[in-house]
Amino acid sequence: MTRWRDVPEGDVRHVDVMGGPGIVVRFYDDGSVRFEHRCRTVFDRQLTSAPLLHPHHEVLRISPLTISPLILCADCMLSGFVVNSEWIAG
Ligand SMILES: [Zn+2]
Repeated sequence: MTRWRDVPEGDVRHVDVMGGPGIVVRFYDDGSVRFEHRCRTVFDRQLTSAPLLHPHHEVLRISPLTISPLILCADCMLSGFVVNSEWIAG
């Protein structure tokens, strides 16, 4: 499970990440973290997906949000870093 509970801003439940395709990082009470984004297009319909971050991801800071290492969506192959609440394609 991605560790984020130790970050001292526990009331934050989501962070909008600038510069990416509709990216919102969502935090849940069970300690899981999801990476919401505009994902694949199927039959001309844009799908929004919110895969779990992997256990090896670390939330280094919530405000502004920084996560390490690189995030990859296996569905649409979107990949990049979240640094200071901004998306940096990688
Ligand atoms: Zn995707």
